[in-house]
Amino acid sequence: MRALTLVADRKLEVADIAPPPAPAADEVQIRVHAVALNHIDVWGYRGMAFAKRKLPLVVGAEAAGEIAAVGPDVATFKPGDRVVMYGALTCGACRACREGRDNLCEDVAGIMGFHVDGFARELVNLPARLTIPVPASVSLNDAACAPIAFSTVEHMLFDNARLAPGETILVHAGGSGIGTAAIQMAKQIGCTVITTVGSDEKAAQAKALGADHVINYRTDRFEHAVRKLTAKKGVDVVFEHVGADTFNGSLLTLKRGGRLVTCGATSGAATTLNLMQLFQQQYRIFGSFGASMRNIRDALAKMQAGLRPVVDTEVALADFERGLQRLESRQVFGKIVVTF
Ligand SMILES: [Zn+2]
Repeated sequence: MRALTLVADRKLEVADIAPPPAPAADEVQIRVHAVALNHIDVWGYRGMAFAKRKLPLVVGAEAAGEIAAVGPDVATFKPGDRVVMYGALTCGACRACREGRDNLCEDVAGIMGFHVDGFARELVNLPARLTIPVPASVSLNDAACAPIAFSTVEHMLFDNARLAPGETILVHAGGSGIGTAAIQMAKQIGCTVITTVGSDEKAAQAKALGADHVINYRTDRFEHAVRKLTAKKGVDVVFEHVGADTFNGSLLTLKRGGRLVTCGATSGAATTLNLMQLFQQQYRIFGSFGASMRNIRDALAKMQAGLRPVVDTEVALADFERGLQRLESRQVFGKIVVTF
């Protein structure tokens, strides 16, 4: 069967590998239909010296497919069921797993497509407990954006930042996969959304998606623009994932007692922090990584209710690398989905 493998840093190959054996007792076998790309794929592709992994590695961290076979103990799924897969091999037994805080698993075996073989292959076996049904009205291409992008945003906004109706939020990089999701989810509960983009074309797209105010960060300093837009009050929540280039500016845009939630550092990982400012302004800063199984179910329910991921492009498996390069160059507006 076909699989897309990372054979060296920045070198991907479509390989012919042996199909998986029949699923074990508690496993399902999934025929993968769509893989969505995320920045973690870009990090993996570039190579990370500290990541514990062995090459070649099957890539793909976020995916949707159809059940092809089930193990003898699996009663929750049957062949033909449409599903998405959790993106990390959690243990299922530790306290965090038992309490539904899956992304805080104390014994996680790795992130799919990053530390361990991922989903960019025709067939994959996975424990049934890491598999989530897709509602009938949601396409598999859309569903493929649920296990990481949509659920990460769900976790950031609602579990961590506790975004509430009527609040004002600054969403950085509104054209990114998670940025487009954050704009939609915040608007859905009645927030005022300010977002940043890097071009006038993206500004128009972000407006069309529902953003109330759009700042082109290449022509305006976002700190000043937010101050003006909020009549010097600042925002309740900042949705961060840009990192070094924006982090301190993001803190400056917060109200006293405001919350900053971050899940990324695409522009760089190191920054300085003014501790006086932190405690005097009573900021709350949340690091957020991944999501729980519940977040994925909630994200799929939102898709079922009409919220759709913005898909920038669909590419074929052989063009995965082109998709990554497009993502890396920040040309996208929304998600890139690789179809089989
Ligand atoms: Zn665990």
